[in-house]
Amino acid sequence: MSLRSRLTTAFLVVVLGPVLVGAVFVAAVMSHLADSRGEALANSAVTMVDSTLGTICERIQASAAAVALNYRNGDQENAVEMAQLLVDRAVVDGVVFSSLASVSTSPGTDIGAEAPDGSWVDCGETAVYAGAGPIVALGAQAEVQNADGSTSVFTAFREVDQTFLARLARVADADLILQDSRAVPLQVGSADAGRWDFTDSFLPLSIGTVATDVTPMYWTLAAMVTASAFCAVGLAAWLARSTTRPLAELSAAAERVAQGDLNVRVPVHGRDEVAQLAFAFNRMTAQTQSYVNALTASRDQMRGQLGRLGQTLTATLDLDRILEVILDTAMVTAGAEAGVIMLVDVDDADQLRERAGEGDLGITEPASIRIGEGIIGAIAAGGVPAHGRIVDGRFEGHARADTEPDAHTIVAVPFSGRQPVDHEWSSGRQPVDHDSGRLPPEQERGRGVQPSDQSRSVRRAEYDRSRAGEGEYGGAPRTDAGVLGVLVLYNRIGGDEFESGDVDTLRTFAGQASVAVENVLLHRHAERLSLTDPLTGLWNYRFMQTSLRREAERSRRYQRPSALLAIDLDRFKDVNDTYGHPVGDQVLIELARRITGQIREVDLAFRHGGEEFMVLLPETDAVGASAVAERLGKAVNARKFKVNDASGGRELGITVSIGIAVLGEHADTATGVLAAADEALYAAKAGGRDTWRVAAA
Ligand code: GH3
Ligand code: MG
Ligand code: MG
Repeated sequence: MSLRSRLTTAFLVVVLGPVLVGAVFVAAVMSHLADSRGEALANSAVTMVDSTLGTICERIQASAAAVALNYRNGDQENAVEMAQLLVDRAVVDGVVFSSLASVSTSPGTDIGAEAPDGSWVDCGETAVYAGAGPIVALGAQAEVQNADGSTSVFTAFREVDQTFLARLARVADADLILQDSRAVPLQVGSADAGRWDFTDSFLPLSIGTVATDVTPMYWTLAAMVTASAFCAVGLAAWLARSTTRPLAELSAAAERVAQGDLNVRVPVHGRDEVAQLAFAFNRMTAQTQSYVNALTASRDQMRGQLGRLGQTLTATLDLDRILEVILDTAMVTAGAEAGVIMLVDVDDADQLRERAGEGDLGITEPASIRIGEGIIGAIAAGGVPAHGRIVDGRFEGHARADTEPDAHTIVAVPFSGRQPVDHEWSSGRQPVDHDSGRLPPEQERGRGVQPSDQSRSVRRAEYDRSRAGEGEYGGAPRTDAGVLGVLVLYNRIGGDEFESGDVDTLRTFAGQASVAVENVLLHRHAERLSLTDPLTGLWNYRFMQTSLRREAERSRRYQRPSALLAIDLDRFKDVNDTYGHPVGDQVLIELARRITGQIREVDLAFRHGGEEFMVLLPETDAVGASAVAERLGKAVNARKFKVNDASGGRELGITVSIGIAVLGEHADTATGVLAAADEALYAAKAGGRDTWRVAAA
């Protein structure tokens, strides 16, 4: 059963039910009223007939008495006069001067109408119909005792005929039938009156009165009920239709929305609840549409960003560029106004340094913050992601540091990536960053790190090892809690707080950031491995070729000198032969350390092969190179080399011979200068060893 038919039925039941009940009640009341009215009419007619007949009888009695009185006081003449007067005044129809009993048999002196022949009803104390024959009159008698002892009787009467009955019927306003023994009864009015009653107090009379006919009223009532039923059906149909039509429109619209059409709108009729529902539906679809549009736009933007991120991750090993794109993507995804990615500082594992920053929040670049300090520092120290509102420069109990932006909302995700491999430290040899061709800062200052240093330095050393290209890769620098960096976003667009969902999203990006850091460092590590000598950590022969060619080119172009030193251990074969090859290796390692300890940051030291080393001195002429050679020779021969062999520790006196050649002076090419330096080296050997020689001009 549809809603519409249910509504129609309900309306009909509610409206027609009372109408029908009311109609039945009205009909019942009408019938009852009609009955009561008929009864009242009949009663009144009977009463009227009885009282009229009573009055007539009293007047007949009074007339008889008046005649008798006149007879006694005067004589017969007075009585006749009186009788005549009464007849003339139509009080009685006639007066018979004899007793009533003898009227029919021996009428005396009569006045007025002739006494009718038949049954009379005596109006005396017992005015009853004798019941013998048709009633012809109402009569009453009065007696007078004469002086002679005789008795004179006077009888007054009213004829009971059609006229009498007609008058009586008029007074009672009823139909009358005289119910005596005559064959054709005396009758006034129609015989089909609505209701008949009977009286026999003076005359046996049937009294007919009208009964109220309520049938037409019933028809009217039925017509009214039918008409209202039709109206109710029409109204119910209209009401149900007008109620269900907007609902049907709404359901059709909802169906279209379910099929993905968010352009659908329903017409709003009037201002009722359904109209409000339609209005709310329209607003909802409009809102949903704008959400979908916004989501689609942000999805497209995110797709673009992710594409860029993917391209960047695959196409470049520029860490800063990668971190910038990761930050961009994270900001677009979470909808932030600004953000930073901070990594544990290479130089100081107790502080974070900004590697990528977006949005203007007054962050001065490069921003740095100590672990545990301010908001970011505290989050990095805890290693647990956090999000929320910064109120009065405080977040979760931490006050904002001066280097942190003054933002309203924040989400920060520390990241660790792969945990570093803990392994035994081995001595650094040539910690040179090949990108710049320079030593990392601490090497520039401190020239290597000792194994006995405290934990902070050990962490740094791990990083250095990774940069130096030596042995196992130790991973990026981390805090004590193992945190490698923090991805931080500020001020969510729209003013809301960041949510825990954002933390999950940012974890993905933070994970990418740590993978990127690890990858870049790993790549650098691998690259360095291919360019360094595994024993000494110095640059290898391959890198020497490249560097020499580059330096020759530079020297030619700028007409600047660059010196090349060829260094060879003296009588090294003897060391090997005497103490064994491993001891020889220890000597080579120590020599490499002493060489790097004597040169500038711009200088490059190579292991040429075997026990032969090369040092390239940019912007250096023969004189400067000679000074370096002299210094190098001293650094080697001045202190004994401490070595260990199977029988324990030893100290060996080691010397080197050095050949010097200068680009732009002795040769213009890489091969040329190499040959010249070699030649000079032989000259130094020939010159007695533990000395240096400049190539012949
Ligand atoms: P000279 O003074 O003439 O240079 O005498 P020398 O003994 O050093 O002669 P030479 O330069 O020809 O010696 C080369 C020796 O260097 C041969 C080899 O035993 C040693 N040698 C080369 N490479 C290595 C190495 O990697 N480790 C060790 N322990 N010895 C090496
Ligand atoms: Mg040699
Ligand atoms: Mg040698």
